[in-house]
Amino acid sequence: MSKTPVTVIKGDGIGPDIVNAALRVLDRLDTGFEYEEVIVGQAALDAGESEVMPESALKSIERTGLVLKGPVTTPSGKGYRSVNVAMRKHFDLYANVRPTLSMPGTQSRYKNLDIITVRENTGGMYSGQGQKVSEDGNRAEALSVITRSECERIIRFAFDMARARGRRKVTLAHKANIMKSTSGLFLEVGRQISEEYDDIEHDEVIVDACAMKLVMHPERFDVIVTTNLFGDILSDLCAGLIGGLGLAPGANIGETCAMFEAVHGSAPDIAGKGIANPTSVILAAALMLEHVDQPENANRLRRAVRSVVAEHDRVTPDLGGNATTERFTDAVIERL
Ligand code: NAD
Repeated sequence: MSKTPVTVIKGDGIGPDIVNAALRVLDRLDTGFEYEEVIVGQAALDAGESEVMPESALKSIERTGLVLKGPVTTPSGKGYRSVNVAMRKHFDLYANVRPTLSMPGTQSRYKNLDIITVRENTGGMYSGQGQKVSEDGNRAEALSVITRSECERIIRFAFDMARARGRRKVTLAHKANIMKSTSGLFLEVGRQISEEYDDIEHDEVIVDACAMKLVMHPERFDVIVTTNLFGDILSDLCAGLIGGLGLAPGANIGETCAMFEAVHGSAPDIAGKGIANPTSVILAAALMLEHVDQPENANRLRRAVRSVVAEHDRVTPDLGGNATTERFTDAVIERL
């Protein structure tokens, strides 16, 4: 098998532990992956770099076009701009795909959920434009910007993905009743594009009602496509429906580059304790395997994780067990 170069960003907080866990699991499969490790964020500054996104990291990602990434801390409020948002912008990773699939053995009120959130990843409230705080600190503003072509490509991506994966329905989540310009454009484009896909059902829902319906009847949802901020929130909500953020992977897809990561952050409250659940990064690795056309390896990985979670005797504290990250990972490797 020819080698496939992958850029690895271990991140900070629990990042290095859970990415190392995923790499240990991947090492047991015949993936042909060849890793280039780069550092970003606070870890890069600590290592003497002058930028949170060093040129060497950008170059590696440009070369490989494939990234496995752990969470990177972004200080709230003042401070440097989010490395995550910057990477999505720089590499135009416009589609954030977040599958939430129920796992037997987790503490969740719902069973058999299988929802994919497709979030527009570069525009909207996260476009970074027009952020201002007045000199006296009493007024703040930010611009939400989305273009017709951004709406078109994300909605088309969602419908194409739904078709390729044999999904039945795409739901457009919006707030066009109040945010008439930005969300209005998204909805207008969504209605037009949905007509091109007569094999896939489509419906539309206002985002606040969407949150309520997800909690009351999540089984009615299939693929949700929405703008950046709404997608960020709804996908965490979906992760909560299946038992928590520790189980949720995400893919950030662009034309020339794809980055796979956990949906959750660097979990400073448990960093350094060796008890982080590595499932989300392992499942992100499974998404990466699918992306490079290794569906069998992806399924092996998923089956192994699901069986360890279902058995429940070697799961991490967030899932109600007392296993360490390492013990959980050993169990996954045994089940491969
Ligand atoms: P978080 O997702 O890090 O943690 C939320 C809660 O979930 C915490 O109680 C944490 O312990 C728990 N949790 C998260 N992942 C877990 C895991 N794998 N195993 C067990 N428990 C887990 O959210 P936060 O505390 O709001 O964010 C911390 C930092 O991470 C912030 O700086 C934020 O900006 C950053 N962040 C980064 C990314 C990313 O790199 N893609 C995503 C989200 C947040």
